Amino acid sequence: MQLQQKFEELGISKEILDAIKAMGFEEATPIQSQSVNVIKSGRDLIAQSQTGTGKTAAFGIPSLEMLDENDKTVQAIILCPTRELAIQVSEEFRKLLKFKQNLRVLPIYGGQPIDRQIMALKKGVQVIIGTPGRFIDHLNRRTIKTDNVKIVILDEADEMLDMGFREDIEEILKTTPEERQTVLFSATMPKAILDLSRRYLKDPETIRISPKELTVPLIEQTYYEVTEHSKMEALSRVVDIYNPTLSIAFCNTKKRVDELVEKLQARGYFAEGLHGDLKQHQRDNVMKKFREGTIDILVATDVAARGIDVDDIDLVINYDLPQDEEYYVHRIGRTGRAGRSGRACTFVVGREIYKLRDVMARTKAKIERRKLPTINEIAEVKAKLFIEKIKEEIDAGDLNKYIHMIESLIAEDVATLDIAAALLKMELGKDIENHEEIIEPEWKNNNRRYDNNNNYNRNDRGQNGYRNDRSSGGYRNNRDDRDKERLILNVGKRNRIRPGDIVGAIANEANVPGRSIGGIEIFDDFTFVDVPMSYTSQIISKLKNRRYKGIKLNVERASK
Ligand code: ADP
Ligand code: MG
Repeated sequence: MQLQQKFEELGISKEILDAIKAMGFEEATPIQSQSVNVIKSGRDLIAQSQTGTGKTAAFGIPSLEMLDENDKTVQAIILCPTRELAIQVSEEFRKLLKFKQNLRVLPIYGGQPIDRQIMALKKGVQVIIGTPGRFIDHLNRRTIKTDNVKIVILDEADEMLDMGFREDIEEILKTTPEERQTVLFSATMPKAILDLSRRYLKDPETIRISPKELTVPLIEQTYYEVTEHSKMEALSRVVDIYNPTLSIAFCNTKKRVDELVEKLQARGYFAEGLHGDLKQHQRDNVMKKFREGTIDILVATDVAARGIDVDDIDLVINYDLPQDEEYYVHRIGRTGRAGRSGRACTFVVGREIYKLRDVMARTKAKIERRKLPTINEIAEVKAKLFIEKIKEEIDAGDLNKYIHMIESLIAEDVATLDIAAALLKMELGKDIENHEEIIEPEWKNNNRRYDNNNNYNRNDRGQNGYRNDRSSGGYRNNRDDRDKERLILNVGKRNRIRPGDIVGAIANEANVPGRSIGGIEIFDDFTFVDVPMSYTSQIISKLKNRRYKGIKLNVERASK
């Protein structure tokens, strides 16, 4: 992302700054640094920026800043195209409000019992995030009052218009006070949006973050489909098979860096983290060790890695898929410098594959899917390396002391061949012991789905802007998704649910092959899971009304 700015420079309150810190954001993205000031100034705004550039926080931070905690009426309305997005936006808002608990946020959407929403509304909610249809329902029932609304935000405006919400949106805008602030965010700017803004926005400011031209270095680029669960094992396999001298693994947040470093160290790798929280001397220290080769794997955030000036990095691993195409290019640009060969591997979890496809489309990079090395393959590589080492040792000589020891064993009638084999086993066995079994997501299907270059741009809407796959809105429209469908479950982090529980429940209860279950995203109170479409009904009927830790499960199609 270009033009990074510190959040501290944006005049944000301490509570929200602390929350942003806790979310692990290091710097504001361009759309964020530009929108915050405009929204805070009270002006209407039309903002365009690609998917994945942080638009939610771009409107979330300044709008939450404006609200009066003592006023228990509805002050901000955010309209989103789907319930999935409404939930995602409200989760992000709740995180932003970590230290401002007096502001209450409520997602409302179709498919959830309206009575429950009415009850929640009665408790006093200042921020409503909802789909236009359900919002209109509430307006008609007079269960939402809009007299005190200060700001209306249309998120993913292009998508909402596409889905035919135009009339609903207009009606909602009409029922809110004239003097409200109106803000519109969109990944693309088709004419319909400009029409809408001409009618309902007052002298709006326009912000447009255009995607930069990106070129990637010519190095080998591969990706692996993994689960969040198996990432660590996948990483250690990749590192073990390529045996790099210097490698960097990239994570998206400081927290992820710390977690990964800890796990790597526990497995016996020499790993150190590099992120914005380090003091200059700590950073220098890590970099010194890295240059000297005493660190096998440097784990870094994008921001922290910016100043790395080491030329012979042979492997870059995108442990987390970068938020932004530009980051991808910066990251892999760390390897293959000065004419050296290099390698970049990217881990992709579930539907992140679509984001990777955007990376390929924007950068024209060829990123090929690979199967993860098997434990046997790693064993072979390790054995080869070890045997090389043995040969070197023999060449170096000075083995007399050891030869005597072996001679005494031979005197006991032990065969030299057996001694050598036993030593090998002892040496190699301990490396392999560390590895765990991984079930990879289905291979055959995916390979066919994603390796067709001509299709990457399918979602593009021409010169107006980049039309990326979005984490939800466009999901149903995507032909590649034909065989997967997204379900929503009413349990989440608060119920201490883990990905394994979900896979287990679906696989066992509904008799669905575990490996066919796709991405799982766990929020505080909800979980999304991608399952093969052919199993959807079966899963819903088997899991519905079952109990999980005392809670009656509700499972539904997410894209209702
Ligand atoms: P958009 O609405 O533009 O598609 P989102 O608001 O959904 O993008 O953000 C995409 C992802 O980036 C989210 O996971 C969000 O938490 C994360 N994110 C947003 N802003 C930042 C930031 N400044 N630094 C790091 N991650 C960020
Ligand atoms: Mg968004």
